Amino acid sequence: MMLRIKRVPTVVSNFQKEEVGESGQFGAGCGRNCIRHCCLPGSKLPLYAFKRLNKVDNEKDLVGLEKKEAPVEFLDSLLLGEWEDRMQKGLFRYDVTACETKVIPGKYGFIAQLNEGRHLKKRPTEFRVDKVLQPFDENKFNFTKVGQEEVIFQFEPSEDDDVHFFPNAPIDADNSPSVVAINVSPIEYGHVLLIPHVLECLPQRIDHGSLLLALHMAVEAANPYFRLGYNSLGAFATINHLHFQAYYLAVPFPIEKAPTKKVTSTRNGVKISDVLNYPVRCLVFEGGESIENLSNVISDCCICLQENNIPFNVLIADSGRRVFLFPQCYAEKQALGEVSAELLDTQVNPAVWEISGHMVLKRKEDYEGASEENAYKLLAEVSLSKERFQEVKTLMFEAIGSIISETERVGDSLLEKPDIIPPQEDVEDALNKGSHPALVPV
Ligand SMILES: [Zn+2]
Repeated sequence: MMLRIKRVPTVVSNFQKEEVGESGQFGAGCGRNCIRHCCLPGSKLPLYAFKRLNKVDNEKDLVGLEKKEAPVEFLDSLLLGEWEDRMQKGLFRYDVTACETKVIPGKYGFIAQLNEGRHLKKRPTEFRVDKVLQPFDENKFNFTKVGQEEVIFQFEPSEDDDVHFFPNAPIDADNSPSVVAINVSPIEYGHVLLIPHVLECLPQRIDHGSLLLALHMAVEAANPYFRLGYNSLGAFATINHLHFQAYYLAVPFPIEKAPTKKVTSTRNGVKISDVLNYPVRCLVFEGGESIENLSNVISDCCICLQENNIPFNVLIADSGRRVFLFPQCYAEKQALGEVSAELLDTQVNPAVWEISGHMVLKRKEDYEGASEENAYKLLAEVSLSKERFQEVKTLMFEAIGSIISETERVGDSLLEKPDIIPPQEDVEDALNKGSHPALVPV
């Protein structure tokens, strides 16, 4: 049996609507100024070359001695600057900075946003949700079809031991650069897509190199309010072309505040913990001798999930220092008719942002009536059961050659005492200070 769900796909590019046909009628190039061979020759884009052997170091920011002056502020000047430039140019489908946002009262601090513009104007499409790995299909929309004006810069490892910035670098098609593009249906300020080796047309699938690239982007941004996320197929990715999403929101996400309890650690010192008292069962990864260590352990776990056909979401938080991994089963339940009509009516797709506690709501009544209970109910449906989660953890830990400690195996981790209870920040206050600092007139 093939499992499918219907949903309205998000329009991430202004060229997504024209999904049919190639036309040569425009003369030079395809006429859309895309980033394929038809339009690439002679094209230039800013290029940010990051330092490869960057250790995620908590000391660095404090000491500041080692930190050489960056050629450009990655987040504030480059990413958000270029994003705002595209906003000025009117490339977005709506003004996300005008969308209402609030913190839902309660102990979790779920964040609700009313976004009525995001989902209109498109008919629901059927998505196959029972296969996490599907081959790339060049006839469907993919990121080589976006317009060059939607791509804001190239993001590549540096060839020496320094950070470099070239405001006007040629696009080297033979090396298939990794690029950052705007999402024309943003859910927050600075919403972009990171597309590893865009011209290679890789399917949505985690590999070691691409996850490491995403971690490097979080490190370069150097701001805990700038997170990256990943949705696998079957876990609410709608485009089968390898990509991560990222945006800026100056409020802690509920998942980031949840207490954790260590389950195991790897030989290289990567610590893996359960997240406690949260509606979606998940793991959090941190530490390790290098970013690459941390990245490899996480990608090994993701690859294991992919090979076992288990849909999942990933949140890269805390400037790349902490990464959350959520195996999930919502789309499967939805396809099997096991989700209540009440939840389906809200049309909320629990992808990485919703799972992390940022609920993007489409209907005014859902926004106005948003309660912690409703958010919890939705997320509880996303989570694997306790037994299934335990099985999935065992699979992953076997894949990375790690052993779950005895206490974990016998105890019920969700009821155990957490190692650390993080301080509860005043999210209401943080939100009131403004989540769009660059837009506040100086
Ligand atoms: Zn073209």
